[in-house]
Amino acid sequence: LSVIEQVEPRIADATRAELADQRASLKLIASENYASPAVLLTMGTWFSDKYAEGTVGHRFYAGCQNVDTVEALAAEHARELFGAEYAYAQPHSGIDANLVAFWSILAHRVETPTLADHGAKTVYDLSEQDWEKLRRAFGEQRALGMSLDAGGHLTHGFRPNISGKMFHQRSYGTDPETQLLDYDAVRAAAREFKPLVLIAGYSAYPRRVNFATMREIADEVGATLMVDMAHFAGLVAGKVFTGDEDPVPHAHLTTTTTHKSLRGPRGGLVLATKEYADSVDRGCPMVLGGPLSHMMAAKAVALAEARTAEFQTYAQNVADNAKALADGFLRRGAKLVTGGTDNHLVLLDVSGMGLTGRQAESALLDAGIVTNRNSVPSDPNGAWYTSGVRLGTPALTSRGFGTAEFDRVAELVVDVLTNTQPAATKSGAPGKAKYVLADGVADRTKAASGEL
Ligand code: PLP
Repeated sequence: LSVIEQVEPRIADATRAELADQRASLKLIASENYASPAVLLTMGTWFSDKYAEGTVGHRFYAGCQNVDTVEALAAEHARELFGAEYAYAQPHSGIDANLVAFWSILAHRVETPTLADHGAKTVYDLSEQDWEKLRRAFGEQRALGMSLDAGGHLTHGFRPNISGKMFHQRSYGTDPETQLLDYDAVRAAAREFKPLVLIAGYSAYPRRVNFATMREIADEVGATLMVDMAHFAGLVAGKVFTGDEDPVPHAHLTTTTTHKSLRGPRGGLVLATKEYADSVDRGCPMVLGGPLSHMMAAKAVALAEARTAEFQTYAQNVADNAKALADGFLRRGAKLVTGGTDNHLVLLDVSGMGLTGRQAESALLDAGIVTNRNSVPSDPNGAWYTSGVRLGTPALTSRGFGTAEFDRVAELVVDVLTNTQPAATKSGAPGKAKYVLADGVADRTKAASGEL
């Protein structure tokens, strides 16, 4: 930091402040973690200065021999760890990984026969008219993914994201009673909609998914199964999710971020079966430019960490701690979406406490507990105010918290929320944004969390 200080002291200050905040607060954001010093250090090396468009051994720049070593190692670790036939380590983030996967599915399933039909080897051999037909064919494809309020992700075909502009999209939700994934409803939607891509995976669904069943559904309608395991990749790597709950043997393509439960650097990965390898390999130049070689190096380090017995213990602890957190909430009368959890996250429904998710998130932050508001299924408060708060265990498990500490976390959260009231609006009705936290609660919570 002293080096940074000399160039832009405000960045050095902000960095110190961020470290202080992360140390002082209880980090319960389900998508965050604490990367190891080895991972953090690998991100800040001279690989950052190198251009290396292309793939391993096939670059558009000279002098990429060391980047080749890094990228090959990241891919090899990913293949071995997840048992994948092919791995692509270049995506800069989860959204990039999904874009690469979507375009590779389109290229594999739509472009290839069209090129062959026209006796063309590459897109440049096509006439303008044929190219136009092909562009239109891409725009006619369909994707079926989990609805946002049931826990799906924006990149799964929703309108504010480019995926919603690429595909005609339809969603499957969860059972209105149990809030659990209803595979019969997914099957019925797939039969009717006949998607090119069936997307499984989530950001805020607190349960495991049976990927064998999802593959059966995909096969029945001729869809490609793409699983986005961004949130639970650490539980797959740590062998907590195995058999039907492990997406990799069942999906044609599996995408992930590397920075959530996997505890690596910010970034993405695409895993695929051999048949999709060539089209995924064209991620650059399809949707990516020069790879972030320093980040691929850090991914290789994180994946090497994730191969260890220690990581398996960590992953099991993440799941055990989520269960302890959920049980702690239920024992104190709080309401949870689906009534519990069997992964790394808990979705608290705060509507019964008279609060919106936004009020709950803000009051918790005042008390040093960092969470994010989240929709619950069929949320009457919409995606901005919401009625839920999502809490995850990966980060605090990295800090060494066990089930007793997570029970105490549940107690602190309930203490804050039961001492928070919505502030009245001018008309006297309770508002959706402002809130009043009872005196003393924030100090009490911060003191208690400092002891944890
Ligand atoms: N996919 C899922 C399921 C996610 O939860 C997220 C991020 O929250 C992403 C993709 C996007 O990842 P990134 O923020 O790295 O682009």
